Amino acid sequence: MNFLNELGIAEVNPGSCTGPGQWSNGTDAGVLSSYAPATGEIIASVYESTVTDYEAVLERSRSAFHEWRQVPAPRRGQLIRRLADALCTHQEALSGLIALESGKIKAEAQGEVQEMIDIAELAVGQSRMLYGCTMHSERPRHRLYEQWHPLGVVGVITAFNFPVAVWAWNAFIAAVAGNTVIWKPSPRTPLSAVAVQRLCNRVMEEAGYSGIFSLFVTRDNELAERLVRDRRVPLISFTGSTAVGRRVGEIVAARLGRSLLELSGNNAVIVDESADLDLAVRAIVFGAVGTAGQRCTSTRRLIVHESLYQTIVEHLIAAYRQIRIGLPLDPEVVMGPLISGEAVAAFSRALREAEESGGEVLYGGQVIEGLGNYVQPTLVRAQNHWPVVQRETFAPILYLMTFKEIEDAIAINNDAPQGLSSALFTNDLCRAERYLAAAGSDCGIANVNVGTSGAEIGGAFGGEKDTGGGREAGSDAWKCYMRRQTNTINWGTELPLAQGIRFGTGHRERVSRP
Ligand code: NAD
Repeated sequence: MNFLNELGIAEVNPGSCTGPGQWSNGTDAGVLSSYAPATGEIIASVYESTVTDYEAVLERSRSAFHEWRQVPAPRRGQLIRRLADALCTHQEALSGLIALESGKIKAEAQGEVQEMIDIAELAVGQSRMLYGCTMHSERPRHRLYEQWHPLGVVGVITAFNFPVAVWAWNAFIAAVAGNTVIWKPSPRTPLSAVAVQRLCNRVMEEAGYSGIFSLFVTRDNELAERLVRDRRVPLISFTGSTAVGRRVGEIVAARLGRSLLELSGNNAVIVDESADLDLAVRAIVFGAVGTAGQRCTSTRRLIVHESLYQTIVEHLIAAYRQIRIGLPLDPEVVMGPLISGEAVAAFSRALREAEESGGEVLYGGQVIEGLGNYVQPTLVRAQNHWPVVQRETFAPILYLMTFKEIEDAIAINNDAPQGLSSALFTNDLCRAERYLAAAGSDCGIANVNVGTSGAEIGGAFGGEKDTGGGREAGSDAWKCYMRRQTNTINWGTELPLAQGIRFGTGHRERVSRP
């Protein structure tokens, strides 16, 4: 395939890199093969990193930080601008690789690269806006202000379903803030990471830098945890399941490091009596079926006013019947495969459990036999308190339930361990405000007449409760990658103490220089 050549993906690729021309080719840790989830074929392989590789990556990243933090932030932004240009040039090839390796359809893969370009543009602007406040000091002839400094080496661990965009959200903002970044990608999508590192290498080399972006590939969780435990890495940004994220959060907290956790979701759409049903159905189908239900923001629960339930079910079934399932690179296809055989097994297990709890499959429910990890998009009549509905199954299963009063719908929305994304479809202003108020949705993202998935990068992205509490991308999320320093400057000749404290020794004579 041409796009593999364009991106420099060979049969076996090196798996650790500290910068231009600094790939490790060590074979001691074995070879990790990347399988196309649509066909089960091996695309290419990657040499996994060893502990020695990891140490080299860490040390290079640390020494690069000492220089990079001294580069003025707007100039750091120029490097990210060049990266945005490189991503634009290779958008087509990179989206082809992402679709092939992760199984998401080409249009969504293109959207993923576009998201990288968007966040790069935001980071370039942000590089001129790392603002601190100036406060009015209570003491005469004193200046009081705060400024933001970089943290150091930032570790970024990413999930398979956004193999490169999540790295970009973190890496570009972290880099303009003056940090260097070490990436541990998902072992399910190592090639996309290697391709992006190659682009970074070229851009870093052309700009005269090295070690700002580094990579190590491993499926060894112990080696991944080495990064998490490493006191030389002040911030770990982790994206993945709640189970792994909880462990990562505990390890980082024990060393009093910082973590930014972006974990599982269990996102609900509420449709009330006044909703524009056409709008609602389109958003629900995209939210539940897009990326084959493998987005953290996928719509997993649908809470419909009881008067509309039958109508919505009929419209959803009609829409689901038209969903073309197939190869991610086929432009006619809207749903690709699940990432792995285990994901297919989890889909089947969840449906069995739902049926045992009393659930009724309204559409789908079958594994599609043959090549690849294909399942049918599925609708299940369910109840919110069932354990299977309370947990995230990373597959296109939508659980449907009804409500009478908006308060009940909001309570159902909030009655889940996770708190990432949520949406209300309504044309009733009071209900919309009720849903967005403090006693409304408890999620990090709450939308009105917009579905749960497909967030823009301009807002801060993340969720509450078991979703981990982290915020990435726009708004003031850049502050997560910096340390705040409060500065007081006395430009007078007196030494007044704060709070008017008098600490008199009686000594008043001015000290003169010898
Ligand atoms: P996962 O938790 O299995 O793996 C995530 C990453 O953690 C991978 O790189 C993996 O190799 C690494 N890892 C595994 N064990 C580790 C350990 N002990 N120490 C350090 N790293 C370790 O998740 P996944 O299956 O790749 O992705 C799907 C999950 O990610 C879903 O739960 C989804 O909701 C979540 N997700 C969340 C967001 C968000 O922004 N909230 C975005 C994308 C995905």
